[in-house]
Amino acid sequence: MTLPPNVYDAEPIPDAARAEIDRMLADGDLFRYTSDDSPVALLEQEFAAHMGVKYALACASCSAALFLALKSLGLPHGARVLIPAFTFAAVPSAVVHAACVPVLVEVKDNYRIDIEDFESKLESADAILISHMRGHTSDMDAILALAFAHDIPVIEDAAHSLGTEWHGRKIGTLGRIGCFSFQSYKLLNSGEGGILITDDADIIARAVIMSGAYEHNWKKHPVLQDRFAHWQNKLPLYNTRLGNLSAALLRPQIAEIPRRVRDGRRNHDYVAGLLNASPWLHVPPPLEPEARAPDSIQFNLKGFSDDGARAFADAAEARGVKVQIFGLSEDNARAFWNWQFLGDMPDLPQTRAMLMRACDARLPARLKRAELDLIAAALVGAAEDVKGKALAYGT
Ligand SMILES: *Cc1c(COP(=O)(O)O)cnc(C)c1O
Repeated sequence: MTLPPNVYDAEPIPDAARAEIDRMLADGDLFRYTSDDSPVALLEQEFAAHMGVKYALACASCSAALFLALKSLGLPHGARVLIPAFTFAAVPSAVVHAACVPVLVEVKDNYRIDIEDFESKLESADAILISHMRGHTSDMDAILALAFAHDIPVIEDAAHSLGTEWHGRKIGTLGRIGCFSFQSYKLLNSGEGGILITDDADIIARAVIMSGAYEHNWKKHPVLQDRFAHWQNKLPLYNTRLGNLSAALLRPQIAEIPRRVRDGRRNHDYVAGLLNASPWLHVPPPLEPEARAPDSIQFNLKGFSDDGARAFADAAEARGVKVQIFGLSEDNARAFWNWQFLGDMPDLPQTRAMLMRACDARLPARLKRAELDLIAAALVGAAEDVKGKALAYGT
């Protein structure tokens, strides 16, 4: 009998990391700026090459990357930054940390930005920060065209979207700056960590210095040196670097990206097909240009009350599968009304309605067909536990 799988464990770190880590344990060389070709510097070069961009800067987290991205744009105090109202609390937090003001944009029940609301809020915006939540990609054609027309820079929060593509272009390379996370739940895992990518020499020079390339440590970045010289001593040092140990864990995982993407997509699409066969569950289809790299599945409950939705989550857990309903699980960090640190904010009825019925279940790329069948059966069965089988198929 197949038991419900453990969906929380990450994949093992490739063996190739071991020799490098042993070397570091022997010589204690853990700081990226001790040498010119430290593991962190090599990670940056390899990640930039993988993404097809000129520059990358590794840092302590994706939140730190987002913060540095905002700072490197040189936004004034109090600048208004559009963000989707469906994102992780770390995103509005990074905006606040950068002394900017987040402006929340409505999200539709397919988890993607409401372009009409986006456009209506654009006039007063100084920057745009698009979170591709779990890889669900909003209409980037419309967003980039509007941003270009208004001359407003776009940062992509691709923390959990590595491997997703839009018209065959890698997510995170569409805007001026892209940011990714290496926290353990993301596609590449070093426990903690993040990386910022850009093709803009001035932005990378500013971000590198502010990340903590004090004195002339920026000379250890293979980047246009005149921009660094220009910014020398003119920027604060926020010291949010990545260490060599983390980079050694990450470098051999880059080669794993294609397999993790392929398996995650296959697993997701298989389970989505099974869930969509239920009259009570709906996995919103992607926009046409999107090819995602999922390690979880999101779906909406159809025709459920709040109590019914809670009962569904309980029934799924009783069947061995944990489901989070973003707006109903207590203190969920992706429910905007829990971001009380922002102070007063307008209600966003569309996003709120979505969050109250949108479910989240982990679906790691390593799962096998029998485990996927079990998860899908538990979810479909849980809906039937609440709504009744007869009703579902009745006349
Ligand atoms: C994980 C995540 C973050 C934060 O990443 P950290 O590396 O933990 O700071 C930000 N945005 C999204 C969409 C995420 O999924």
